[in-house]
Parts: sequence; C-alpha cells; structure tokens
Amino acid sequence: MRLQRMLGAALLLALAGCVAPVPGMGGAAQRFAEVRTSPPLLRGFLNRMPKGGDLHTHLSGAAYAEGLLQAGAAAGLCLDPATTTVSPAPCATGQRPLRDALGDGALNRAVVDGWSMRGFVPTAGRSGHDQFFDAFARFGAAVQAATAAAEVVDRAGRQRIRYLELMVTFQGGAARRLGASIPWQGDPAAFRGQLMQAGIAGLVPAARAEARAVEAAMRQRLHCGTPAASPGCAVDVRWKAQISRTSPPGQVAAQALLAALLQQADSRVVGINLVAPEDHPVALADYSLQMRIMGDVHDAIPGTNIALHAGELALGLVPPEAMRFHIAEAVHQGRARRIGHGVDIMFEDDAFALLREMAVRRIAVEVNLSSNDVILGVKGAQHPLPVYLAAGVPVVLSTDDEGVSRIDRTHELQRAVEEHGLDWPTLLLLERNTLEYAFLPGASLWAEPREARRVPACAGADPLRAPPEACAALLAASPKAALQWSLERDLAAFDTEAPGLRY
Ligand SMILES: [Zn+2]
Repeated sequence: MRLQRMLGAALLLALAGCVAPVPGMGGAAQRFAEVRTSPPLLRGFLNRMPKGGDLHTHLSGAAYAEGLLQAGAAAGLCLDPATTTVSPAPCATGQRPLRDALGDGALNRAVVDGWSMRGFVPTAGRSGHDQFFDAFARFGAAVQAATAAAEVVDRAGRQRIRYLELMVTFQGGAARRLGASIPWQGDPAAFRGQLMQAGIAGLVPAARAEARAVEAAMRQRLHCGTPAASPGCAVDVRWKAQISRTSPPGQVAAQALLAALLQQADSRVVGINLVAPEDHPVALADYSLQMRIMGDVHDAIPGTNIALHAGELALGLVPPEAMRFHIAEAVHQGRARRIGHGVDIMFEDDAFALLREMAVRRIAVEVNLSSNDVILGVKGAQHPLPVYLAAGVPVVLSTDDEGVSRIDRTHELQRAVEEHGLDWPTLLLLERNTLEYAFLPGASLWAEPREARRVPACAGADPLRAPPEACAALLAASPKAALQWSLERDLAAFDTEAPGLRY
C-alpha cells in the first residue's frame, strides 16, 4: 500500500514535469517486487544494490577464518590441534605449525570450524554464545589488522558499500596498564584527572600512528591508486576505538579516556564503543558504573561520539533483572547516540517510553540479525526489529562479526526482507540511515530522512547531474552530505540498472 502510494506520487510528479526523478521509485522498486520471493534472485539483486555503510563491525570478527589462517601461517604461528588455539612460535610439544592446516584437509576443517560458527551445533553445556566468543581467543594471535582490513574493505566495496566504521582496539595494553597503576576510588571525574596527570594523552600519538600504519598497509594490499585497485579503495573507512567492558573500572576508564582523546585528535577515528560479552560477570556487575564512566568522558571531551552495545541479552542467558535497564542507562548515563543490538528492549522497565524517547531523540539502533540468532537464539518473529521500525526508532542493519558468523552485509539485508517482510521504501530508508546516523562529520543532506526530504539547498536536484551551486557548497563542506549525495546518485542509476538484473 505504501509502495503504491509512493509510486503514485512519483507518477504525479513525473507528469507534472516539475522535479527531477526520485531515486528508488522506479525500476529498482519494480524489480525488487519481482525477485523478493526468490532467495537466489533476491541475493543477486541486493548484491548490486548501492548501499550506505556498516556502522557495527568489529575488525577481528569481520575477517573470515580462511584469511586469518593464511596470515597466521605466513607469520609462523603454532596450533594446538585439540582446541584450535594459535600462539607464537616456537611450537610446544603437541602443537603443530599452523601452516599444516593449509594443506591438511581435516586440520583445515577443524581450524575453520573452531574459529567461526561454521558447522556448529549446540550441545549440552556448549551454546552458540560460547562458541562465538571463544572463537576470538582461538584465532586472536593470527589477526593482522592491515590484512584483515584489506579483506573486509574489499568485501564491502564489492557489495557497493561506501562507508565503514571498523571497531579496533588502539593501544589497549598501554591504556590498561596506566589505568591499573592508579588506585580506583569510585569517582570517574577524579580518576580522569589522575589519568591526565599520569600522561595518558601521551599515548595518543602512538595510537594515531597505529591507525595510519594499518591504513597505509591496507591500501597497499588493495592496490589503491593503481589500475588494479580493489573496489574497496572507494570505501570511506573510519575507525571506532574499542574499550573492553570486562576489565576493572580503572582500566575501563583509562581505555575510554584514551579512545575519546584519540577521536578528538584524529578525524579518521569517529567514535568509541564498549565491547565484549554484555553478560560477562564483570560487565554485569559494573554495568551502571561503566555507563557513568562513559558519560563522564563524553561530558569532559566535547564531541565524543558514543555507540554502546546494550541489550545484547536474552531471557535464560541472564536473570530478567539484568535486562531491565541496560538500554535506558546506555542512553541516559552512557550518552549513547547509537545502541548496538538492543535485542532485549521489551524487557526494559519502561520499554514503551524508551522506544518513544529513542524515536524522538533520534537514537539509532544497530540491528545485527545473524549475530543475534547465533549468539542469543533470537530470530524471526522473536526479534524486535519490526517493533523498532513501527516505533519510529532509526534502524541501521549491520553485520557485527561477519567472519565469525560467516555472512556479509548483503545477507543481512536479505534476511531482513525474508524474515521481516521489509518493503523497498524501508530498505532505502535503512540504507540512508547508515549514513545519516554515521559518526561522519558534517551537515546532513536530509531535512527529514524518513520522508527522503532533502535540505533546501539540494531539494529537487537531480542526483545524476551536477548539483546546483548551493548544494555543491554543502557537499564540499560536509563529508557526510557528500557521501549521502553519492548514494543518491548511485540509487538513481540503479533504477535504470535494476530492470536488467535478469538472465
Ligand atoms: Zn558488536
């Protein structure tokens, strides 16, 4: 019905001849209607669909086991065949060189299965949650940031994704050591002062150098700037600094402050996020305190962009009491502008008021369908995605850990269509949301993204033509608007391309 209304509106506008074509209301919408009930054809269509960004993706979890294995083997790592855990050379008794897993079929299967959700079947005492998070410890020593980034960014470019916020830990060990060296007295603001006195800002240059080095090596691997350049070279890659929520308070505070200082110093780092299992005993016990720590850093360092994993819980995994307040506190005390997962929203004390508040204040939710399925067992009608949409909360679809889950961003779009019946206008909105709610600096192209209504400077302009002067000025001044405009241009072109996506 909504689609028909939009198509009707587009027809009227076209007849009136007074405005430029509106992306997404023509050939793409029609082709989507034709393919949406055929999973293979839908995949082919969605693969080619121009996309916005992936706002929730952890670099190490986004790398596939196969790439990690190659990198780890080349680095001469050792493998414990019983657990598939890797460690640096020399190999101890019972260990084998990891490179053996390149040619030995059975060992290769064991490694890929151990480092991901491939082939995993829950058994007594061993859940998908455990397999998922344990995988990180097994392959951890094999992660090389630049190699992993090249793989992930290439994959994004091939799916026509134009923007990534990759979550990485910068100078984590140094920040934790500094945090551990000062006694925690329970006051985040006072502790922050002590951290500054202890010279935490001195870690920022090393963190920036780390980010720059990873980026340079990644671009080299992608052959950027050469005729053999990967599609990934066109992706705008930014970083979010991770903070581990399983550390003692002082170490969380030190990591959070370093992350905020790093964001302040480097435009490549656009935000910060608390990571690791939300149901970890330390994360549960310290949840409210950690929210106060994040809020303190936010208020002390102007412009800090905070996204927080919150509500990545399910009944049974934790007591209901642990599901009553995490999202609300992330919004109120933690100053989160985006919520990661938000799966347990309806267990919150005042879920309906919280939904209304998120809608009014434009607090986005990063929905990770496959991750929620394999870790929490929440999927299909049990998932709150339709509730968030109906409540008017801004939604973005993201991958979380596409390598561990063995998925990609296109798959998550497909899953949203197949499990939740999303229509074409909603898919367009979700893609636009991934740029609207990105932590990219600059003014938005949109006056109201829900209605695809642009700011006056760019209203009515044809994305396939050069923008008028005032619009061009906005695009030149705003990295966010420039990226949004390029998505509109590609969506407009997709209207012409999509009808031809057939055999
Ligand atoms: Zn995550």
